Amino acid sequence: TWEYAPAPESRAIANLKPSYRMFVDGEFVEGAGEPLKSVNPATEEVLAEVSTAGAGDVDRAVKAARRAHDKTWGRMPGTERAKYIFRIARMVAERARELAVLESLDNGKPIKESRDTDVPTAAAHFFYHAGWADKLDYAGLGPDPKPLGVAGQVIPWNFPLMMAAWKIAPALACGNTVVLKPAETTPLSALVLAEIIQQAELPPGVVNIIPGAGDVGAELVNHPGVNKVAFTGSTEVGKVIQSALAGTGKKLTLELGGKAANIVFDDAPLDQAVEGIVNGIFFNQGHVCCAGSRLLVQESIAEELLAKLHARVSTLRVGDPLDKNTDVGAINSRDQLTKIQDLVASGEQEGAERWSSPCPLPDKGFFFAPTVFAGVTQSMRIAREEIFGPVLSVLTFRTPDEALAKANNTPYGLSAGVWTEKGSRILWMADRLRAGVVWANTFNRFDPTAPFGGYQESGFGREGGRAGLEAYLDV
Ligand code: NAD
Repeated sequence: TWEYAPAPESRAIANLKPSYRMFVDGEFVEGAGEPLKSVNPATEEVLAEVSTAGAGDVDRAVKAARRAHDKTWGRMPGTERAKYIFRIARMVAERARELAVLESLDNGKPIKESRDTDVPTAAAHFFYHAGWADKLDYAGLGPDPKPLGVAGQVIPWNFPLMMAAWKIAPALACGNTVVLKPAETTPLSALVLAEIIQQAELPPGVVNIIPGAGDVGAELVNHPGVNKVAFTGSTEVGKVIQSALAGTGKKLTLELGGKAANIVFDDAPLDQAVEGIVNGIFFNQGHVCCAGSRLLVQESIAEELLAKLHARVSTLRVGDPLDKNTDVGAINSRDQLTKIQDLVASGEQEGAERWSSPCPLPDKGFFFAPTVFAGVTQSMRIAREEIFGPVLSVLTFRTPDEALAKANNTPYGLSAGVWTEKGSRILWMADRLRAGVVWANTFNRFDPTAPFGGYQESGFGREGGRAGLEAYLDV
């Protein structure tokens, strides 16, 4: 644990620079695109100007990645690749404090989360995958599996560094080279990761980071020199990419949206469940694809649980992401805040009972009070659509069958949570829930050894664990 300093010092800890450039072929270069301004969502101040990819830049990056794959990285023994990836892991861990502060400035997430989850999980993914680099014969795909070539990777803004690590680490371990596009509102930590990759002396072109908006992402995934596309983001964009790639022969993995059910049975330890519900939906302001955004509670305990939940949520501290006591930070952008407000308004119009924490909100910045809707029915938009904000929809059930039917009544299928003392019930539910991850008596736990990914419109392919290697190898 570290102590945190107030804002001006935090900029120094984050080593914040007035401008950042793209990373292509081992060098930081000016992109031909219009520079973007990365904004601190907690203050609405511009943090830095970031150069973006324009005419010819995607092509240059993909060609650099191809050369690096054909000449160095794709030919290198796994034992050698492992050394480089271990070096990246160590350097991320060494610069953890700087990266955590930078991430909270750029994204708005509470420092205790970037400190305890984002940065350590990013480092853990590099450590874990470094261990695989020379053991790919045991990946379960047959002897001597081969890299796919150039991976074009596009990531969202909710876990900028962690998503970059989830993408880059397995690609490198398997001998692929990378062109990665970070999200337009949170490009900074990926560019510091590029600095680490440069200092770790990876051969030029093995990793390229090109900031830009959706058009740059589209150009990247459609570039004929890209062999594998890995996308994390909205289901809407995932569908566009899937259709665009049909028939191209490119391999594709999609990590998309979710509307997870967090299911509480009447025998659950209630105080523990309340903590899990709060963590499930208010962690990272609810900007979490696997957020437990639908609480399904057994009718007999619904009233008691709701009272406990209101009491607990009232104590959450909303505000300055850099204050280590903050529980809920800033919404990442004005656009996202508007989207949350619209969906909350729809919940009120459709007749759900809204309760919002009476917590004071800062005058500046994008903030939204933690909100719980009771009396939600399955047809309401707040029960069906991903809100991607600190808003929980509460539904009730009587029997395990009803809980299961309601939980599965979604086009998504990324995660679910089950709270009960009965082990047999956990197994019964986990077996029948159409979700890639089922947590039991906990929520939002991430580990590089565990495969993560969706069913249905939450996407396909897995990240992490042995299964995650399949997305980056061929036999
Ligand atoms: P988004 O789809 O709008 O953007 C994601 C990324 O795709 C950004 O970098 C964006 O610039 C880029 N992009 C936009 N249009 C594109 C196009 N046509 N072609 C290629 N790239 C394009 O999503 P978002 O709002 O940034 O992120 C929120 C979404 O991400 C939520 O739905 C959330 O559930 C999902 N998400 C999923 C996971 C997961 O692992 N399943 C993890 C985090 C976030």
